[in-house]
Amino acid sequence: MKKQWLVILGVGVVAGLIGAGWWFRQQRACSRLSLERIAGLHDVVPFAIIGSGPAGLSAGLYGARLGYDTIIFEGPKPGGQLTETGYVENWPGVPRALGPEIMAQQRAYVAKFGARLLSDSIVQIDLSHWPFTLTTETGQHVTALAVIIATGSAPRIMQVPGEREYWGKGVTTCALCDAPYYKNKDVVVIGGGDTALEEALQLVAYVRSVTLLVRRDSLRASAAMQMRVRTNKHISIRFNCAVEAIVGDGASVTGVTVRNMRTRATEQISASGVFLAIGHEPRTKLVAGQLALDREGYIGLSGRDQQTNIEGVFAAGDVTDAVYRQAGVAAGDGIKAAIDAARFLQKLGWDRDRAQTLGVALYEPHDITRGAAEPAELGSKAAYRRLIAHAHKPVIVDCYAKHCPSCMHMLPTFQAVANEMRGEADFYKLNTTNVPELTEFFGVERVPCFLVIKHGNVIARHYAIMNRVQMRDMVKQTRA
Ligand code: NDP
Repeated sequence: MKKQWLVILGVGVVAGLIGAGWWFRQQRACSRLSLERIAGLHDVVPFAIIGSGPAGLSAGLYGARLGYDTIIFEGPKPGGQLTETGYVENWPGVPRALGPEIMAQQRAYVAKFGARLLSDSIVQIDLSHWPFTLTTETGQHVTALAVIIATGSAPRIMQVPGEREYWGKGVTTCALCDAPYYKNKDVVVIGGGDTALEEALQLVAYVRSVTLLVRRDSLRASAAMQMRVRTNKHISIRFNCAVEAIVGDGASVTGVTVRNMRTRATEQISASGVFLAIGHEPRTKLVAGQLALDREGYIGLSGRDQQTNIEGVFAAGDVTDAVYRQAGVAAGDGIKAAIDAARFLQKLGWDRDRAQTLGVALYEPHDITRGAAEPAELGSKAAYRRLIAHAHKPVIVDCYAKHCPSCMHMLPTFQAVANEMRGEADFYKLNTTNVPELTEFFGVERVPCFLVIKHGNVIARHYAIMNRVQMRDMVKQTRA
């Protein structure tokens, strides 16, 4: 009997200790999350969303409609992956539309409901204590109360010899952007999923032939997509082909070396372009080491909600999803994340009246293009001769095309940099679709391309996607 009482006492003590531990943790969390901590702070963003694909934009729509001051940091690829696809037939409610159009429409109505979309990227985030600190690519620090990570995923690369060397010189991940530069050429697409098949279909409108190189003996893509590809006589499929190297002549790609996975024999396949479509990896560099990630590197969620392991931080879309990876699912995730974030802010007691009482000043981003004169368009070779051939200052030309999402995203950045640095160089734009003779004259192989011209000679062609800081550095280097 005495023993029994001792056991009951022991269980009671343990339960008491667990309860006390839980109570102390709750108290600590409550004080950690007390609004008093933000009294008098400036540059506060109550509802911060990082990323602007279907997940980020849907979260923004709900954040704004639920009455929160919502800022979407659009990141390096506004609109996300859909802006690089052609026709989409599985976006709920829209039978068939171009991916970029869907995103442009979504962006417009998110803005109409009051979310602010900033052409800026978050390059650093501190989630170690609340409120969270976000640093933008231009070095501004903002204080966020609730954060939704919707950074999506990035195209996977193969890591074979030649891939890095010929990146932008024939190796690419965007058929929609680059297809017009491969007119009447032979190209290969690597991969057997929906993206690879879609890229192959986008390319056939321009190129002479497309060879799909698939490492297994079957495709992963949907039956509908397979049917379209198999019935197209300009597309051939090579199964059991693993790419071992990308080869070229130093200036551009000339082909690939493949190994037949059955016979183990290797062969060279000639190609002017190599389009990688081998899946995606979650973009988690920003939060790695701070948020819990799963084995495959996706942000881990606690259950059916979008809560991460840190209170006040939510995640949505492809950055959390190794399974479904559909735009519609990402949009749904974004909506859930926004509702979760709104509940979090409600629990905190945050609203505009409270902000006023606490003397909190909200972040007021300035429009980087405000007051900036647009760089002039080069409309002909004659204009080039008149404006550039004899210029004393270095000249930077942004060669773009309207079908290229990255180009369209970089135009405002180019405009802002041009405005800031016009003392150091002259800046022009060239619509490569409208002025093909000048594009050819400059030796532009694909867009986006930034030309550096000195004393009438093209001294550099930059094909990289650049943020504002990188673009400034490019201009500074012209003085060297
Ligand atoms: P997937 O993961 O579906 O397919 C990747 C493909 O690349 C597979 O064939 C895979 O081979 C192959 N692969 C992977 N690594 C390598 C490598 N190192 N070398 C050679 N081949 C490799 O990615 P997707 O980007 O195609 O699609 C992602 C998601 O987006 C899917 O859910 C897809 O349905 C969806 N999507 C939908 C579209 C639409 O509905 N319009 C359009 C595009 C994508 P293996 O099969 O052997 O692993």
